[in-house]
Amino acid sequence: MSIRDNILSIKDEISDEVKLVAVSKTRSIDEIKEAYNSNQKIFGENRVQEIVEKHQLLPDDIEWHMIGHLQKNKVKYISNFITLIHSLDRISLAAEIDKCAKKSNRKIDCLIQLKISSEETKFGLDTSLLEDFYSDIQKYENINIVGLMGMASFTENQQKISDEFSQIKELYDIMNLKNSKIKNLSIGMSDDYRLAIEKGSNMIRVGSKIFGKRSY
Ligand SMILES: *Cc1c(COP(=O)(O)O)cnc(C)c1O
Repeated sequence: MSIRDNILSIKDEISDEVKLVAVSKTRSIDEIKEAYNSNQKIFGENRVQEIVEKHQLLPDDIEWHMIGHLQKNKVKYISNFITLIHSLDRISLAAEIDKCAKKSNRKIDCLIQLKISSEETKFGLDTSLLEDFYSDIQKYENINIVGLMGMASFTENQQKISDEFSQIKELYDIMNLKNSKIKNLSIGMSDDYRLAIEKGSNMIRVGSKIFGKRSY
């Protein structure tokens, strides 16, 4: 199937309430253009250099989402155009995003990335720290916290993935009740987006299911 067919079939399958972030890391400008011409306007990238280059070369009405681990010293390269940062997971990063957002005269929407997987290598804030973290970052006036993001364990075990999604959904519901700005739950990738949506996801990040297998 073509990129266009893949996008149409995923959009067909999900409801209008679920936002599809097309994860275009490692993909060429032409591949992204094919997706764009299939009415896909939200793209996610995990490397700063790549997202900056692609943003410069592609149409202005694309929403660019930073979905990968973000180093503080690179925030300045994306702060003038980024639509949503999914990977806010520490105070020092929040301080830097706030500082750069001020300079660009913007408020930057961010999701708090939670560590829901038991795997060692994953980034994300420990769930036990969420409440304190959320109140600590209220002082950053140029950051808008608009939801939560999580990545499930890399496993075939559906029950484990399901439990991890339930855990973040529960935290999301608590925050969403208290604050109407918290309205995005970014969970689910190519292999688990159906399960994620069942568990309450309203933002899925899909790469290989749209563009085919990545070769690095
Ligand atoms: C690469 C990536 C995805 C998409 O992965 P696929 O399995 O190709 O859909 C989603 N989220 C993050 C954070 C990623 O780095």
